[in-house]
Amino acid sequence: MNFKKIDVFVSGGGIAGMVSALAFERAGFSVICADPIPPATARHDHGADLRTTAFLQPSQTFLKSIGIWDHLAEHATPLEVMRIIDAGGADEPPAIRVTKEFKAGDISSQPFGWNVPNWLSRRELLKSLDNAQGATFLTGVRTVKIFTRENEARVTLSDGQKIHAKLVIAADGRSSFVRENAGISVRTKRFGQKALAFAVTHTIPHRNVSTEIHRRGGPFTLVPLPDQEGTASSAIVWMETSKQAARLMGMDIDSFTSEMNIRSCGILGPLTLATKRTEWTIISQLADRLSAQRIALVAEAAHTIPPIGAQGLNMSLEDIQTLISIATKADDIGSKLVLDAYHKARINDVNIRVGGITLLNHASSAQSQIIRDMRARGLETLHGITPVRKTLMKMGLGIKSQG
Ligand SMILES: Cc1cc2nc3c(=O)[nH]c(=O)nc-3n(C[C@H](O)[C@H](O)[C@H](O)COP(=O)(O)OP(=O)(O)OC[C@H]3O[C@@H](n4cnc5c(N)ncnc54)[C@H](O)[C@@H]3O)c2cc1C
Repeated sequence: MNFKKIDVFVSGGGIAGMVSALAFERAGFSVICADPIPPATARHDHGADLRTTAFLQPSQTFLKSIGIWDHLAEHATPLEVMRIIDAGGADEPPAIRVTKEFKAGDISSQPFGWNVPNWLSRRELLKSLDNAQGATFLTGVRTVKIFTRENEARVTLSDGQKIHAKLVIAADGRSSFVRENAGISVRTKRFGQKALAFAVTHTIPHRNVSTEIHRRGGPFTLVPLPDQEGTASSAIVWMETSKQAARLMGMDIDSFTSEMNIRSCGILGPLTLATKRTEWTIISQLADRLSAQRIALVAEAAHTIPPIGAQGLNMSLEDIQTLISIATKADDIGSKLVLDAYHKARINDVNIRVGGITLLNHASSAQSQIIRDMRARGLETLHGITPVRKTLMKMGLGIKSQG
């Protein structure tokens, strides 16, 4: 037999792929996960993912259930308050004209979520996978061929290895090979926008408050991190038009620092750059179907959204959780019945969230002064009506019950 026979093959070892592999292994299945690029697992490593993920309450519950949360908890910063600032007036430099706070305590006894650097999540996931008996994590190899039949999928990797699996999970990102190979089309919206992601230190403590400052080009978001050698620290996602982003990436550190401090409106005192700057292209994208024969699409292979409201990876974890809960109740984890049920269970929620975040991104990046003024008034109105404010917070958290 010149092939390996397993239950689940995961194509792609980003955070979503690693979580999928761990979750199915914990549920008792044999799993292989493959990725061409070895994960960068330290902050200053070449290629380190300097984005952070605010794991919202439902994601934390899921990560606890598969035994990974205990390893992340000590590095996670709770998000107690989300502060939204509008600085979209005509003034130069920008001035704050509306500030509204959304408090987790208004809807729950828990924080909104817990912020963890992506490179650190990868490090802990990799350790857990290395120790998991039923899982193998392969790096340096990509999925190059998939052929599916009614009862299994046959996968070929770039080193020639052949794998037969009952279920293939496509977690191979926004340009997913598995998705394309399965003939699933996507609808893509390009915004001509990029996000810069990096970490800073600052003089005023963040007090577990996450702050989004809206002006034009996209939000400037500061998300709390643990102190760095006794100094307060935050992760920043700074969205801008592609042209502005290129200009910012090309600047020397002093000029960049001065521009960043103008854009932050001094909200946490002077900011000092603490890492490299990394750059991400912003798109909205949704696959027409979330499954094909023996294949389930999860995470960015299925949906990609602008980084607003900490939704992207949280939606991805919901994909994985839904898939596993349906698959583990069935005799055959990759059957048509399971995969149709998975598609049906997720497609509406994914559609609504991709549409909603796309709209919010248009409002947030508006160049027109009229729209920016409407945005500021909208923020005041929505925040002022208590039931609306609470409903919006619950929707953002992905809380479905009205409790
Ligand atoms: C600036 C920014 C900030 C964000 N902040 C948040 C946040 O606060 N909260 C949140 O929930 N989400 C956030 N997101 C979204 C989140 O970061 C992404 O959804 C998530 O990192 C994507 O994970 P993924 O595993 O789907 O994809 P990726 O990380 O892209 O992983 C895909 C993997 O597949 C591999 N691959 C590609 N081709 C193949 C192949 N042929 N075979 C095998 N492997 C292959 C790649 O090497 C890669 O490692 C943010 C996004 C951005 C851009």
